[in-house]
Amino acid sequence: MDYERILVFGAHPDDEFSMAGTMAKLADQGVKVFVATMTNGNEGYPRPEWRDTIVEMRRGEAAEADRVLGVARRWILDVEDMALALTKATLKECIRIVREARPHAVFTHGPHDRHGDHLATHTVSVQATWHAGEPVAAELGEPWRAPHVYYYKSCNLPLPTVVFDTTGYAHKGAEARATQVSQHTLFRRTKDEFLAEAERLKRERPAASERFWIVETNALADFLPLQG
Ligand SMILES: [Zn+2]
Repeated sequence: MDYERILVFGAHPDDEFSMAGTMAKLADQGVKVFVATMTNGNEGYPRPEWRDTIVEMRRGEAAEADRVLGVARRWILDVEDMALALTKATLKECIRIVREARPHAVFTHGPHDRHGDHLATHTVSVQATWHAGEPVAAELGEPWRAPHVYYYKSCNLPLPTVVFDTTGYAHKGAEARATQVSQHTLFRRTKDEFLAEAERLKRERPAASERFWIVETNALADFLPLQG
C-alpha cells in the first residue's frame, strides 16, 4: 500500500466503510485518500418525512465520515439511488474523476452482489479506470493509468488477495458508521452503540486486517517478486 494517492469507488455514501481501517491508516501516513460515491443515496430514508431532505442529510453525514477517515476529497455523483447503470454520462463523469484524482490505486466493488447499484458501480468504475488511461475523450482531462486496481468487497473469483494490517484502526468502521444517523434504522444500531463499540475497539486495540482482491494483472506482477 505504498501509494501517494488512492481512489475508492462506492455505490452509496457508506459502502467504502468496508475498508475504513485501510483508508484511515493510509490517510495518517500522508496518502491522499479520495472517494467517488456513485449515487446520491436519495432512497435511503427509513421515514417518509425524510424523503425531501435525505440527500442533504447524507451529504452532511458523508462529510462527517470524511473527517473520521481522513478523506481528502469526495465526489458524489448526481445519480439516483437504485438507478445506477452503465450510461455514457456516468462513465464520462468517472473518467473525469480518475483523471483529476490521478490515483496510484483504485479500489472498487467486486462483481458478486445482489444490489444493482453495487454491480453497476463495479462495471462503471472498472471501465472508467481503464478508459481514463486511454488517449480518448480529451476534454475530460489528461489520460491517467492507475497502476493497481483492487476489489474491496463482493468478489467470489479465485483472484489473488493482499491482506493489509489495520491494527490500531479497527475502531474506524464503527466510528464512521456512527456518523450515518439516517442509516441507523437499516444498520439496526444506534449512534451510541456504534460509538461505544468504537471506544471499546480503540481501548482493546485488537489485531485487525482488511483483505483486497488484486484485479489488474500488472498489479499482480508487482507482487510476484515478494513471493520469490
Ligand atoms: Zn451500498
